[in-house]
Amino acid sequence: MSDVSRLPGSAHHYWQWQARAACRDLGSNRFFHPAGERGEDREVRDEAAKQVCAGCPVRAACLEHALTTREPFGVWGGLTEEERRALLDDRTPARVRQSA
Ligand code: SF4
Repeated sequence: MSDVSRLPGSAHHYWQWQARAACRDLGSNRFFHPAGERGEDREVRDEAAKQVCAGCPVRAACLEHALTTREPFGVWGGLTEEERRALLDDRTPARVRQSA
């Protein structure tokens, strides 16, 4: 019989929040911009995504995931990629930013 005591455990708990996501059945078009999208089109799409996020029961977990993994694209946890980048810059001490 195999000894499984040293195998890593299930990672189900890590992703469990996604099962309750308000965007779960909406597809990704509202949350990720197509290549080259700019200006008003982008603002309108981002706002539509943010409206979904505003009522999402797992918004905090989603945002924390996006910040932790530095998700480079899309609206996560109610913030666009630019807003998350600014938030991460604010969290990073100046001495670390200067050496990067
Ligand atoms: S916060 Fe927004 S992007 Fe994140 S799971 Fe909820 S609806 Fe989806």
